[in-house]
Amino acid sequence: MKRLVSILLTAFILIAPSSAFAWGDDGHQTVGKIASLRIKPRTAQQISQILKPGETLANIATWADSVKERVGKTDPDPDTNSFLQDIAHNEKNREWHYDDLPLNCKNYQTCTGFTPDNDIVHMLNICIRTLQGYPDPDHPLSQRNALKLLVHFLGDIHQPLHVGCGFIDVNGPNRKIVIARDPALIKQKNLPSDRGANQLIINNDRRNLHSFWDFDLVTSLMLATDKQTSDILGQYLKETVKPKSSWNTHGPIGTWAAQWATDSLHLSRDSTYKSVNIIRQRTITVMTRNGQPVMRDGQPVTDVVYDVTRAPNYEAVNREVVREQLAKAGFRLAELLDAIYSQ
Ligand SMILES: [Zn+2]
Repeated sequence: MKRLVSILLTAFILIAPSSAFAWGDDGHQTVGKIASLRIKPRTAQQISQILKPGETLANIATWADSVKERVGKTDPDPDTNSFLQDIAHNEKNREWHYDDLPLNCKNYQTCTGFTPDNDIVHMLNICIRTLQGYPDPDHPLSQRNALKLLVHFLGDIHQPLHVGCGFIDVNGPNRKIVIARDPALIKQKNLPSDRGANQLIINNDRRNLHSFWDFDLVTSLMLATDKQTSDILGQYLKETVKPKSSWNTHGPIGTWAAQWATDSLHLSRDSTYKSVNIIRQRTITVMTRNGQPVMRDGQPVTDVVYDVTRAPNYEAVNREVVREQLAKAGFRLAELLDAIYSQ
């Protein structure tokens, strides 16, 4: 989940059990594992010079989530500490993990007004340039931190809900609440986003749709394939999911992230939001992970959420989307690291 607070309907009905992680740890680690099996020896050797002993592409893949809430605090690791202490540059690092692009934008480049300078595409390009030896003065990052961010963002940008996003129109046709897709309409009506489907509630209050993609579909894939760890799942996907020609990225390395974003945007449009319909709006009390109401100025903080319905085969269909996205992200991460270090 990608916003400030976990949303729980009540103390006993959990929607977002671990809000800090996107794709979930398993998803990110699977992507790192696949890449580690695909990179060239020279790339692996260069990476080992940057990372500390014991660090792998799989076990650094969740570092970016671990620093989201800790800016200003201290950490025993010198690189992590310097990141956390650089409040001026890193305070908004949670915004680096995603875009909120309307579903009917044709592609990333033409989605004007929805691609801020600190979105996932810009940050991926900053990490790439930093690793190539050209650090960005607005985002000073050590090589090690840049590599950790890059590995994580490769995972995030392949989670469709980190790119494509619904916008809520409470005055839709026939006075229905609808998910708006058209960028011009969204701008004209100044519609609010559904925060990467974090505000869309599924399964009788149990889950929001963003968490379903981060956690449930990855778990569903692990169960369906009988692979109990991300390490084993990564190995299995590398061996069984054959790369497609459409996975290849073309042109200069600085355009790759935008191409990947466009790919995920189309998946959001064609798969993630397919068959998803809002049935009602509700106001809920925002709870902490411990089940206590979040208070501000003596009052409980509230949020608006939307109950949605989905097609009965939604999980089965999208489990296959996740299977391909994890394999594809690992493939592209290896491709990118080879382009940086072995060419
Ligand atoms: Zn993330």
